[in-house]
Amino acid sequence: MMSFARYIARGELARALDLMARGRVAYAPRREADAVVFRPRAEGEEPLLARATVPPKGIIFPQSERLFAFIREKDPNDPGHTTVRLDATADIPPALIFGGRPCDARGFHIFDRVYLNGPHRDPYYAARRDATVVVTLACAKPCSTCFCHWTGCGPADTTGSDILMTPVEGGFVAQAVTPRGQEVLEGASLPEAGADRVMAAEAVHTATLSALEAQNPAPDLSTTPRRLRERFDDSGFWRAMSDKCLACGACTYLCPTCYCFNITDENDGGDGMRGRRLRSWDNCMSSLFTREASGHNPRMGKALRLRNRVGHKFSYYPDLHEGIVSCNGCGRCITGCPVSVDIREMVVRATEPSEETPNA
Ligand code: SF4
Ligand code: SF4
Repeated sequence: MMSFARYIARGELARALDLMARGRVAYAPRREADAVVFRPRAEGEEPLLARATVPPKGIIFPQSERLFAFIREKDPNDPGHTTVRLDATADIPPALIFGGRPCDARGFHIFDRVYLNGPHRDPYYAARRDATVVVTLACAKPCSTCFCHWTGCGPADTTGSDILMTPVEGGFVAQAVTPRGQEVLEGASLPEAGADRVMAAEAVHTATLSALEAQNPAPDLSTTPRRLRERFDDSGFWRAMSDKCLACGACTYLCPTCYCFNITDENDGGDGMRGRRLRSWDNCMSSLFTREASGHNPRMGKALRLRNRVGHKFSYYPDLHEGIVSCNGCGRCITGCPVSVDIREMVVRATEPSEETPNA
């Protein structure tokens, strides 16, 4: 599929996006105060090419979404008898996300394995995922905190994308990854990229990967899932790793692969007869995340919560998903953490042999 390639001249990008997004709500990065965030894009609007501070996961997995509305109705002849009517209709317009990076798109793949391909298909996620075309921008210059090449991702990874766009001299090569991506490119009537430009795009991919390897060589993480299991009861290690953590949860909200949520019911009006069921992002760094109805909390301290966060991404998820780690190495949890807790350091140190596990 990657052989289907079209060319977009730099000055034609806004027009090309208009054509690709026809009939869809198009999201693109926009600067707001100090952050770059994904917002619906107006026709003709020049998109920002900077990497977003916040990944686009909320477009497909909203920070808070109504699952259904409920209305209770009392039987006037039998007031003790109440029926409940549910309204689960949802307005999900076709969408296109432009300008996410390969680590962002791979985040959707991490979600897919849980919400589409697991034992319980999530209809809300499925509907948005199905309605959304993902047009990803390959990275040409890694940030200092990028470590996608440690995690099975990479600056030109196509996992989770429909189209991969690569900046080349004078413009972009847009390569179809999926049949849907090809359909979108064909519908936009863009000129063929030609073999030379496709080779130029591949050279960008190779050069960026080399730059990443040079700035941040990938360690051998093949034993990490096992080592994290062995570290499970190493409370001293996790206390040291979490020492400066504030338990604010920013790392999870900024993570393109964190998919935990909470369910709440909210009443409309004061009589409790109508309301909405909401699904909202939750995060395992919160002390409330595992608090049980009895008040008991199996993860009382932040050390146990951080152990869960790292363990889930590098051990428990891979154990369930053919070795795939649920971290894409985007580095946002490092840049967004107010005290710069570094997941790379935790993973590397957890993988090292320790006194607690002398035979590792
Ligand atoms: S962002 Fe940093 S301080 Fe906040 S919970 Fe995550 S690791 Fe802890
Ligand atoms: S854990 Fe951190 S580096 Fe890994 S995908 Fe999430 S935010 Fe990015």
